[in-house]
Amino acid sequence: MKYIFVTGGVVSSLGKGLAAASLGTLLEYRGLRVILQKFDPYLNVDPGTMSPFQHGEVYVLDDGAETDLDLGHYERFTDCVLSRLNNLTSGQVYEAVIKKERKGDYLGKTVQVIPHVTDEIKERIHAVAKASDVDVIITEIGGTTGDIEGLPFLEALRQFAHDVGHKNVAFIHVTLIPFIKAAGELKTKPTQQSVARLREIGIQPQIIICRSERPVEDDIREKISMFCNVERDAVIEFQDVKDSIYEAPLKLYEQRLDQIVCERLSLTTPEPDLTEWKAFVNRVIYPSQSVRIAVVGKYIELQDAYKSIYESLTHAGAANDCRVLLQKIDAEFIEENGPDSSLSGIDGVLIPGGFGDRGTEGKIAAAQYAREHGVPYLGLCLGMQIATIEFARNVCGLERANSTEFSKGTPHPVICLLEEQKGVKDMGATMRLGTWETHLKPGSKAAELYGQTQISERHRHRYEFNQNYRQQMEEAGLLISGNSPDGNLAEIIEVPNHPFFVAVQFHPEFHSKPMSPHPLFSGFVAAALQYRHTHQPHPQPQPEPV
Ligand code: GLN
Repeated sequence: MKYIFVTGGVVSSLGKGLAAASLGTLLEYRGLRVILQKFDPYLNVDPGTMSPFQHGEVYVLDDGAETDLDLGHYERFTDCVLSRLNNLTSGQVYEAVIKKERKGDYLGKTVQVIPHVTDEIKERIHAVAKASDVDVIITEIGGTTGDIEGLPFLEALRQFAHDVGHKNVAFIHVTLIPFIKAAGELKTKPTQQSVARLREIGIQPQIIICRSERPVEDDIREKISMFCNVERDAVIEFQDVKDSIYEAPLKLYEQRLDQIVCERLSLTTPEPDLTEWKAFVNRVIYPSQSVRIAVVGKYIELQDAYKSIYESLTHAGAANDCRVLLQKIDAEFIEENGPDSSLSGIDGVLIPGGFGDRGTEGKIAAAQYAREHGVPYLGLCLGMQIATIEFARNVCGLERANSTEFSKGTPHPVICLLEEQKGVKDMGATMRLGTWETHLKPGSKAAELYGQTQISERHRHRYEFNQNYRQQMEEAGLLISGNSPDGNLAEIIEVPNHPFFVAVQFHPEFHSKPMSPHPLFSGFVAAALQYRHTHQPHPQPQPEPV
C-alpha cells in the first residue's frame, strides 16, 4: 500500500481537492486502484450542520455521511465510491478520544494530543486501507500549513510515514505563487516559508504543486527547488484552468506529476491513456450549441453552494453537445419582480435543495411559470416539495397549501415532517440520509430516462410528500412516478402532457460523473435544447459557462 499526503500552503481555496482528485484520475488511468480521503481540522463533527455560506455544498455519500464537497471531486474524478471513513474532522477525532476516555479505555493514562489524538488520526488511514482494496490512498489535509488546528494532523502524518516506511509515502504540497503586478514578478517567498513550516514539523515534501496565474518559468522553478529542497522536475506548475476544471488532470499530466509520484513510490505502471478524458474535455469546451438554464435558489451568489448540480449540468451538457449557460436567479428577486422578468427566454428551470422559508414563494412562482409555459423543469429535493405545493395550490385549488417547514398553520400541509423525524431534537446527522431504493412506474418519464424501474439515489431531507393528498393530487393529473419500495414515500413526481416536468425527493447530482452523466440531468438538458429549438430565436445573454 502506498500513501500520498496532500497539504496546502500560503492560502486556502487553492484547489487542493481538485489537484488530489486529478492525481487520482491519472493514477487510475495508469491502472492503479485508488481511494481518496479528506481530513478537515475544524471542530464540527461533520459539515451537515454548517451553513452553505460557511462551507459550500454538503456532499452526501451512499452510506448517508454528510461530507466536505471535495469528496464530490473525488467521486467525479475517479471510480472510487466513498464512505463515512473517508472524511475525518477534528470534531470526530475528539469525540472518539473523549468517548474512549469516559469508557476508561486509556487505563488511567493522561489523555493527550500526542499520542492519543494523533493515534486516532493514524488509525483512520489504516481503517481506509483495510476497508478498500486499493494500491494507493490519497489523503488531503484541509486548511493551510501553519494553522494551529492543523498541527495534530501533520504530526500524525509525520509519524505515519515513519511507521509505514518513508519509501511508501509521498508528500505533496500545493501552494500559491502570487504574481505581484508592481514588480511584474511571481514571488516564491510565501512558498519557501510555508515549506519551512512543514519542515519545522518534520515533513519534507517531495513534490510542490505551484498554483499561479502565470507560467512558472525556469528561474522560479530553480528557486523553489533550491530553497524548498525538492527536485527541479518535482516543482509542478498548475496554472488556473481556463475553460473547465476537467482540464486539470491533463495539465498535471503535461507536467509529469503522475510519473514523478510513481517513481517516488516505486510503482511500475504503463503510461496513462487519456484519450477518453480528452474527448470529454473537448465536448465540454467546444460544444456546437447552448441552452440557458435558470437555477432558482437562495445561495446563487456562492460559487460552491450548488457545486454538484453545476457539475452534473456540465456532464449533461457534454452528453448533449451543448454548453449550459447558467442564469443564477435569486428566488427573492422573483418574489419581488414576478417570474416573467427573469424567466422569459430561459430554456429550463432547475430548483435545487434548500432549507427554511426564505425565497420559497419565488421558487413556487418559478415552478408555476415552468409548468404553465411548458418550460422544462427539474426539481431536486426542496425543488420537488416546491413543485408539489405549486400543483396543490394552482391545479388542485388547495389555497395556501404549503410545507409545514414554511408554515406551521397551513390549512393544506401537502409537505409534512417524515414520521421518523417527529421526535428528533438533535440537528446533526438526523435527516433521512443516504441511498434509498425507489421503484419507478413503467411508462413514466423517469422510467424511460433511467431505462429501468428500480433505482437507488442519495437523500438528505426531513420533510416528505403528505400521503393524505396523494389521491386528490393524482386525480388532478399529477403522476407520482417513483415511490419507496413499501409505497409509503413519494420519491418522484411528474406533470404529464408537459415536455419535461420531473421533480425528485432525492439528490441525483451526487451520482453524475463525466463519463456517466446522470440520466435525469441529460434528459433535462435534452428537453431544454428541444425547447430552445422550438422557441428560436432568442438573444444569447452573457452568463458564465458552468
Ligand atoms: N428542507 C427540505 C427538507 O428537509 C428539503 C431538504 C433539501 O432540499 N435537501 O425536507
